Parts: sequence; C-alpha cells; structure tokens
Amino acid sequence: MPRDFLKGCHDTYDVVVIGSGLAGMTTANILGRAGHRVLLLEQHYKLGGLATWFRRPGSHIFDISLHGFPAGMLKSCRRYWNDEIASNIVQLKNIRFDNPMFSLTTTFNRDDFTRLLTTDFGVPAESVVNFFNTARSMNFYDDQSMTTQELFDKFFPGREDVVRLLMEPITYANGSTLEDPAITYGIVFSNFMAKGVFIYEGGTDDLVGKMHKELKANGVDCRIRCDVSKIDVGPRGVQAVEVNGRRIGCSAVISNSNLNATIFNLVGEDKFDKGFVEEARQVRLNNSSTQVYMAIKEGVEIDESTGDLLFSSTAPLFRTQALLSRDITSRTFSFYYPRTRPTAKRRHAIVSSTNARYEDWSGLNAEEYEASKEDLIETTLDALDKYVPNIRDQVDHVEAATPLTFQHYTKHLSGASFGTKFEGLGVSRALPEQIAGLYHAGSVGIIMSGWLGAINYGVIVANDVDQHLMQSAGSKVTAT
Ligand SMILES: Cc1cc2nc3c(=O)[nH]c(=O)nc-3n(C[C@H](O)[C@H](O)[C@H](O)COP(=O)(O)OP(=O)(O)OC[C@H]3O[C@@H](n4cnc5c(N)ncnc54)[C@H](O)[C@@H]3O)c2cc1C
Repeated sequence: MPRDFLKGCHDTYDVVVIGSGLAGMTTANILGRAGHRVLLLEQHYKLGGLATWFRRPGSHIFDISLHGFPAGMLKSCRRYWNDEIASNIVQLKNIRFDNPMFSLTTTFNRDDFTRLLTTDFGVPAESVVNFFNTARSMNFYDDQSMTTQELFDKFFPGREDVVRLLMEPITYANGSTLEDPAITYGIVFSNFMAKGVFIYEGGTDDLVGKMHKELKANGVDCRIRCDVSKIDVGPRGVQAVEVNGRRIGCSAVISNSNLNATIFNLVGEDKFDKGFVEEARQVRLNNSSTQVYMAIKEGVEIDESTGDLLFSSTAPLFRTQALLSRDITSRTFSFYYPRTRPTAKRRHAIVSSTNARYEDWSGLNAEEYEASKEDLIETTLDALDKYVPNIRDQVDHVEAATPLTFQHYTKHLSGASFGTKFEGLGVSRALPEQIAGLYHAGSVGIIMSGWLGAINYGVIVANDVDQHLMQSAGSKVTAT
C-alpha cells in the first residue's frame, strides 16, 4: 500500500498553507505562533521550495539559491524565526565584476560604490549622492511610469559602464530589466546598498532544518509529498483543499504556489470576476535560469581571493536580451568555500547561474535536451577556467539544471525563478477581495521575490490572515 503522507492529519484546520517556500513557511510560522491551527502542505519530498539543496557522492552539497541577499534578512529572521537562525547570517565581502568594460572587486555597499563611481568611473560626487538618495526614497506607492533605463539616463546619461555596474547584479538578483518600473530596481538596489550582500552560513540544509524545528515548536503540522490539486470555494469563500485524495476543511488558504497556477489551476477562473480574470491573464511570468553545479575534488583548495560572487561577462555592452540568450555571454559564479558549512567535511563548490528563457529549453527532444545541457556544462567550464585555472582537472562532479528542472521541482509555471513580473503584486493582493479567505504569499512583482522579499511578503500576508481569522471567529461567536 502506498504510504499515507497525511496520516494523523485532522479533518479541519484554521489555515492551510500550500507550499513550503520561504514565504509559505514564514506565514505558517507566524500564524502557528499566534495560536492558529495550521497545516503546511508541500508537494516535494523536502521543505524549502527554491531555497533548497542536494547532495552528491563524495560529501558534496549544492545550494540552489543561496547566493546572496540583503542585510534585511537579519531583522526578518530574528523577528519572525529565531535568534539561532539570524546569528548564522554573515556578509560576503568579496564581490567581483569582470567584463570587457571593467574589472573590479567591491564590498557592494553604498560607501564602496560611491568610492568606485567617483574615483574609478569619474562620476561627479553630486550625481552619485542624488542617485543614491533617489533610489533610497523610492517606495511601492510611487509613480510607476519611469523605467529603470530612464532613471539611469537621468543621473548617468550615456554611461553604459555605470549602468552595467549598477544593473547587472540586480538583474541577477531578481530578474528585473531596464524596461521594468524604476521602483523595482530602486527598492532592491537600496536594500543591498544599505549594508552589502549576505549569506546564511551553515547552508540551506541547516537553515531549512532549523525552520522546520521552529515550525513544529509552534504547532504547525508540516507534511511533504502532499500535492494540493484543488482549493474548494463555497458561497462564503474558501472552505477546503483537496490533497492526496482527501478533503481538508479550513477557514483560510494561503497559496505559496505560483500565482497564475493558484488562480487558473487550483481555484479555477469561474470563481472570479471577469475583470479580475482579465487582469490576471495580463500577469507576465518572470524569466527562469540555468545553473551548473561543480564540486571540487577533496584536497583541492581554491584561494578566497577568487571572490565570493563573480559577475562575469564577455558581452561588450549590458543588454537584457543578451542576458537571456541561449548564446550565453554572462555568468554569475558563486564560490562556496569550506566556511559555508563549517561543521561539514572540508569541501569547495562553485555554482554558475545564468538567466534563461523556458521556451529555449521546452521545445527540445530528449537527445537535443541532453546535448544542450552538455554544451552548457562545457562552455561554463571553459569560462571558469579564466578564474580557476585547469578547472577540468579539479572538478569531482558536474551537472546542470535548466528551466525544466525548476518547473519540475517547484511547479512554477515555465520554471520562473522569481514568480511574476511587477503587475503580479496587485493581483496577488486582490485575491481575498475576490474570494473570502483566499490569499497568496510568494514571489511576485520583483520586490516581493528573492529570499528577503519572499519572507517579508509572508509576514504581510500572515497579518492579513490573522485579522481575517479573528473576524471570522468574532462573527461565529456573535452568531451563536
Ligand atoms: C537559480 C536561482 C537562484 C536564486 N538565487 C537567489 C539569491 O541568490 N538570492 C535571493 O534572495 N533569491 C534567489 N533566488 C530566488 C529565491 O530563491 C526565491 O525568490 C524564493 O526562494 C521563493 O520563495 P517562495 O516563498 O516564493 O516559494 P518557492 O520557493 O517558489 O516555493 C513554492 C513551493 O510551493 C510548492 N508547491 C507548488 N505548488 C504546490 C501544490 N499544488 N501543492 C503543494 N505544494 C506546492 C513547491 O513545491 C515549492 O516548494 C533564486 C532563484 C533561483 C531559481
């Protein structure tokens, strides 16, 4: 008989959270801590969503999305998780850029960028100060008509090199482009510039393990291998979810699944207003990625001066289309030194990431797909050889992930790395106005994606759901 992953589950909960990405887990944790009865359902065999890892023989562990996040994670983890998790967040100090326009190393914060822009790039100090102040003062409610390209044209006209320095890492960090609203750039850039780039020391396996422990301590019922197929909606709003052949009742559902999948697959468009469905159809998915994972042989040491994060490109100019092209010219290398996992066996790993389009991979037959992955691996090793000489002699294991891999493991439509484009945020926020008790928390709208964005969006939605549950409980008391 197949194992029952819902064994011991109750028939009803106050809240069901669909998906255990960082937003899903954070929402579940806050609501569990507040005393609500919470069920967290994850279709994969591990918690974490894109914040995940995998092991390979030789004591190698690879992190999928642990490349860097802003300092804000410290506060969010301390407040909404615990001190133990927050205390493992450390700064990456060695961020490198290498492209035909410039090569430099930076601590990636406002002071160091000001130094670089004024000294190395010769930009007047006043323009730099004004630019930073403008970016820092941006918020979600600002005018959204200005694009990032227009923002750069205003402060650094004709300076393609400056645009590249300021934009390349943010495109990598959240998939935003020069054509997106300037606020999507300004908010994320300022978050990083506040203090630099941070990482979780201990690795994603340690982080998610600690989060799971905290969820259990707060009474959250966490279940893996539970693929939710439907959110049931009745005349008064959300009433249950259907999962692994069971129906579990609830007063609220928070979907951490992809926004478009939530609306069109889990609920069904007939449950929403026509106008809302039209708006939801206009929501564009964000781009996807490819990654190449390289484990270094035991005993081989990579000097830390190689950098923590290396934005490398052979493209003469910074162009959005070039970043997405199958003809890869830009790669971001993350170097994982043994300090990433201080208590594990001494190992080095390198992960190369590149933004990618789902369509470039989805149409291939099995043979072409394997050949394309092989090509991705070989060209990545060629590119890395510049920074780690004789890399082919030093690797113990290499493999690649494509947009199809990300879609397979997370159910994100088209393997989107950062959920949806900016317009997804308004649609995500409007769900409870359409169906009482229906919420979405997860990567949307560039600002609310990435590790910090996902956690913070989880916090916002947890507060909304808490209020909804209190009101529902109040109205039930009044009715009796
Ligand atoms: C290659 C790559 C590199 C990245 N690097 C960084 C980085 O360096 N820094 C950074 O800040 N961010 C990075 N990100 C982005 C970051 O990882 C994500 O934005 C964030 O982890 C997403 O969290 P989330 O809560 O939106 O959910 P997700 O991680 O998308 O998880 C959603 C979960 O829902 C589950 N699910 C979906 N449908 C169902 C269903 N029907 N039933 C049950 N479960 C379901 C999925 O299995 C998944 O576990 C990267 C992303 C990628 C792909």
